[in-house]
Amino acid sequence: MDIVLSGIRSTGNLHLGNYYGALQNFIKMQEENKCFFFIADLHSLTTHPDPAMLHENVKNVLVNYLAAGIDPEKSVIYVQSDVPEISELYLYLNMHVYMGELAKTVSFKEKARKQPENVNAGLLTYPTLMAADIMIHNADKVPVGKDQEQHLEMTRRFARRFNNFYNVEYFKEPVAYNFGQELIKIPGLDGSGKMGKSEGNCIYLADSPKEIEKKVKRALTDSGPTEPNSVKPDYIENLFTIMRVVSTDEVIAHYEEKWNACEMRYGDMKKQLATDIIAVTSPIRERIIVLENDTEYLRKVAREGAEQARESASKTIRDVREIMGFKGF
Ligand code: ATP
Ligand code: MN
Repeated sequence: MDIVLSGIRSTGNLHLGNYYGALQNFIKMQEENKCFFFIADLHSLTTHPDPAMLHENVKNVLVNYLAAGIDPEKSVIYVQSDVPEISELYLYLNMHVYMGELAKTVSFKEKARKQPENVNAGLLTYPTLMAADIMIHNADKVPVGKDQEQHLEMTRRFARRFNNFYNVEYFKEPVAYNFGQELIKIPGLDGSGKMGKSEGNCIYLADSPKEIEKKVKRALTDSGPTEPNSVKPDYIENLFTIMRVVSTDEVIAHYEEKWNACEMRYGDMKKQLATDIIAVTSPIRERIIVLENDTEYLRKVAREGAEQARESASKTIRDVREIMGFKGF
């Protein structure tokens, strides 16, 4: 039985990228494995959230998780800041993580470019915190999207380095996981690379059918190909990429044919795409609306999740302290 861990930053509602990159894989794994899913509120601090909004966002993400099918009877669901052992491990790991390797992380360079007024040390050490998230439960598999590949590589390196330095075989080297297939990246509908909370180009699981139709309709297109079998520009390929996760094989083949024959009618394709997205999100949205008002249940889930997560985390911290040489008097 593998230990599986995944998490999502509480910086907004969940979108199709989170769903197909992380959540859906995770949900499929919860029957057979020991699964941990957490709400990354400490990670959200890098962008200085308004204290009045912090809890609201954590609640939203919890509601989204449960509505999407994470089952607290099978998996451990918890809020990152409820487990202080993670912060402790982050501190220890940081002593074996180097400025140079952090500074050249792709995500750090991107964020530093986007928020030049706030290039804080938390942003720099984000990969250490992510490694602590994973290593605190000694996870084997981490369902994530393609954007997290480099961070997982760093986690493996930190785990190996710890083991080598202290001459132990303690931490496992976790792998980014998507059922043996390639990691996926869901693009935005604005012609940009990635759908992301901080990109403002998301289709949210909580969006109404009307909103989804509107967003899909606005997606960037052109007047269609003029040469048979031509290569698709990125913004068109993006529509097909989303179609590949939400639509049936027949539908996808149909539009591939239309493209190749230069008979593309984007209006039809968008209508179909919106319908297929709505079929995925609607049942989730309905559950979100119910769960949102069930404070009692949410409290119970968060409390029990924190207890179980801390049980696993405190064991790791005890071991790590011993390995590092901490001793009581
Ligand atoms: P933020 O902009 O706050 O970083 P995000 O939209 O990138 O938010 P995260 O919370 O960083 O979302 O990521 C949570 C999980 O969702 C990760 O496993 C990540 O790989 C996955 N994920 C996020 N965006 C995508 C995407 N566009 N395609 C596939 N997976 C994604
Ligand atoms: Mn992200």
